[in-house]
Amino acid sequence: MYFGKVFFMLILICDAFDKSLPNRLKEFGEVTDDIARLPEAEIALVRSKTKCTKEWIDKATNLKMIIRGGVGMDNVDIEYAKEKNIIAVNTPEASSIAVAELAFALMIAMPNQIIKGHEGMIQGKWLKKECKRTELYQKTLGLIGSGRIGRELAIRAKAFGMKVIAYDIIAGANADVVEQKTFDEVLSQSDYISLHVPKTPSTIGMICKENIAKMKDGVYLINTARGACVVEEDIVEALKSGKIAGYGNDVWASDPPESTPLTSAPNVVLTPHIGASSDENLLRIGDIIVEKIKTFVAEKK
Ligand code: NAD
Repeated sequence: MYFGKVFFMLILICDAFDKSLPNRLKEFGEVTDDIARLPEAEIALVRSKTKCTKEWIDKATNLKMIIRGGVGMDNVDIEYAKEKNIIAVNTPEASSIAVAELAFALMIAMPNQIIKGHEGMIQGKWLKKECKRTELYQKTLGLIGSGRIGRELAIRAKAFGMKVIAYDIIAGANADVVEQKTFDEVLSQSDYISLHVPKTPSTIGMICKENIAKMKDGVYLINTARGACVVEEDIVEALKSGKIAGYGNDVWASDPPESTPLTSAPNVVLTPHIGASSDENLLRIGDIIVEKIKTFVAEKK
């Protein structure tokens, strides 16, 4: 509803955003995090936790817009939202640096034995001999998916003296910072492989037994993309045999995972889907949300 200069509506904040966001949105109407008010809300703000399924959308009878703070839209039924004339948008440009930095943190933690050394110190064990390290310098990083996040990781890896190769379904994607290769070439030539693809039918289960067999012995794998892109059981088997030397993982089949063999596997560094959770990224997401709501309101007038 539009009264003169002020547009009154209910904005529902479903998931965790920067704490300054509710205040910043007050100029547009009432802001609440009371999920029970979903039927009244005109705009819903979600991250990855809320699943905007058909059932959820059916409850949101007044909804005009879903803003997904972040990249993947796999938690939003975009087609059904469209059928219901609900605009569904995301903020893909905000999170690239945050996710690339986490992928880099996972990549550097493993060959430097940070977790093993730390746990030893806490338990009173001096694991100096057991914590043999290897360097990133002059190693090959292979990216599966060289979009926004892949690009940021490539820039950082090159600063560490790594060679960066990539496979992407878009020919020439960020070819100024990566050397383009086929999928099999990336698998067979990389010392480190990092996933940066969306969850789609072509990426689900792409890291499976058959493709792990094509990798170098002792490869390190990093997944900050989506849990569904890998077959966890096949990774655990490869970790136990030493085929994969280490697995750094931020993403899960569900948040949190109901059960996963990864938590009892050797040589893993695991995080609870925090790729996009930097303070700076949440601020950037907030800035973009404010702009998107401003545009929405302006178009409504
Ligand atoms: P992007 O769209 O910029 O890049 C993705 C790239 O993957 C594109 O270049 C695309 O062509 C390529 N691609 C798609 N299917 C492919 C396939 N089958 N094989 C090879 N390449 C393929 O997206 P982005 O911003 O770089 O984000 C990548 C993914 O990272 C997101 O889709 C999301 O799943 C994940 N992500 C995770 C977190 C986290 O918290 N860990 C946060 C943000 C994004």
